[in-house]
Formats: sequence, C-alpha cells, structure tokens
Amino acid sequence: MRRTAAADGNAKEYIMPDIGFVNGRFMPLEEATVPVEDRGFQFGDGIYEVIRTYHGQPFELDAHLARLERSARAIELPLPWNLQQWAAYVHDGIKRGGHAESKVYLQLTRGAAPRDHVFPASTKPTAVMTVREMRTIEPALQASGVAVMTMDDWRWGRCDIKSVNLLPNVLARQTAKQAGAFEALFIRNGQLTEGSVSNVMVVKTGRLLTAPEGERILSGVTRTIVLELARKESLPVEERFVTRDELSHADEIFLTGTTVEVLPVIRVDGKPVGSGKPGPASLKLQTAFQRFVD
Ligand code: PLP
Repeated sequence: MRRTAAADGNAKEYIMPDIGFVNGRFMPLEEATVPVEDRGFQFGDGIYEVIRTYHGQPFELDAHLARLERSARAIELPLPWNLQQWAAYVHDGIKRGGHAESKVYLQLTRGAAPRDHVFPASTKPTAVMTVREMRTIEPALQASGVAVMTMDDWRWGRCDIKSVNLLPNVLARQTAKQAGAFEALFIRNGQLTEGSVSNVMVVKTGRLLTAPEGERILSGVTRTIVLELARKESLPVEERFVTRDELSHADEIFLTGTTVEVLPVIRVDGKPVGSGKPGPASLKLQTAFQRFVD
C-alpha cells in the first residue's frame, strides 16, 4: 500500500493500493503469498513478463502475452488460461490499482510440489501478478544518457526464454551499480549480446546494428518497435552481432526496454561514446518512440 499526496497539493492523501494476484484471485499485495515448495522459489522453474502502461493502457500487451506463451512452451509449462483471459486479468489488475501509470509483473511457475528436479506428475502451475505504480526513468537521465560497463556473458544458452533465473543478470547489474554504471552489457565470445535488463543498439556510419533474435538474447518488445521506427526513419538496420572492437568505435549506442525505453549510452567502460553526448540517431529514435507511445 502506498500513500500519494493529492495532485492539487491538498494535504488529504489518497490510498493507492499495490495489487497482488495469485491463481485467479486478486488481493492486496501484502496478502499475496505462495507456498515454500513452489518450484519457482525452489528451482527458478518459471517464466515472467513485465508490462507497463502508457496513458493507463498496457503497452503492446499482445506481444508480451505472445512472448509469455513462447517462454511457457519452451519450458513445457501449460498456461492455465488462454491469452484473452490473461489480458482480462491484466486490465482488471490495472483498474484495481488505479495508478496513473502501472507496472504489471506476471510470473508463472510449475507450481508447488515436494522438491524433486523431475517435473511433478500432476501439479497446477502457480500464476502470480503484481501491479505497482510505474516509476518512469528520470527525464534528466533520458536527456543526458548513461554510462555502462561490459561484462562476460556467462548466462545459460536460452536467453530467449524470459526465465525467472536471473542470477547472472542480478550479479551483473549489481557490479555495474557498484562501479557507477547504469547497465551491464554482456559480451559472449567477443560479441555484444544485450544488457542485463535491456537490448542494446549501436550506430556506426549511419547504420543501426543490434544482435539478432535467437538463443543469445531476449527478443525485446521495445526492440521490435524501435527497429520498426528506425526503418520508418530510413535508418538502415542490420540484425547481427557487434564485436567488442566495433562497440568501442561506435558512433552512438543506446539501450531499449520496457523500463529504460530508448536510453542513450554516453560512456562504455569509462570511455566516451562518439562525441560523449547522446547522438542524433539515438535522439531521433527516442523522440519517435515517445510519439509512438503517445
Ligand atoms: N533483455 C533482457 C535481458 C531483459 O531483461 C529485458 C527486459 O526485461 C529486455 C532485453 C528488454 O525487453 P522488453 O523490451 O520486452 O522489455
């Protein structure tokens, strides 16, 4: 539960509830619990999605739910409801929360069962949702750009599955934070894959380069939209891996993702990117993305 001062400056406070949801039932977030033997907790045996709203409407909900379905299929986890029902729950949760903008977290696990690596014979999946107020990234940061640092990509081989096993991402982001960097960029075998919470795009001599879809990256919903916008803006797009050397000679770099939107990168491992300021292509796509969501 979060208290918000009234927008008109009146001392009265409105109560904006954070919403919890477990297996089809809504409740206040602080009352939402799952059993200790849930396989999501025991094994990280589950998948998730993060969806945000713009103007109160879930952004690209169909694309997020399609990815939820793909992730579930990839780990042989049956969905408890069809996508229309998921969509209805998401809309309902947003309405119940009543936030100006919401961040919806969906998680589906293989359910609770006595601990054994093998799938349980008959366990119902656990579906969890939380709805909280969406805190957008600060406009000053969007305008100034951020510093990032590169790190070894020692994640597993199926980064296309939005699995709740986020330990490498957690450790990478923490290391970045401690070094004063906003994001960790993963490098695997000399090639840039993605960030710990974002996809990465590089601009070099008028071309937009980004890692191809496949098992090395999460196919970002924002990535897809931004690539479409780039093509509309007549910026040639190449979906291929960028080498570490190309990364260090990039004209521009930016991140894309639900939480970061289009975020220019101005330093990599302490060295300035291009002019050391957000470049023209990054700013153009940032504006195009803003217009798209508006
Ligand atoms: N890559 C990773 C590893 C992520 O965790 C995320 C977002 O959570 C993204 C990319 C961006 O995906 P999306 O644009 O769908 O938020």
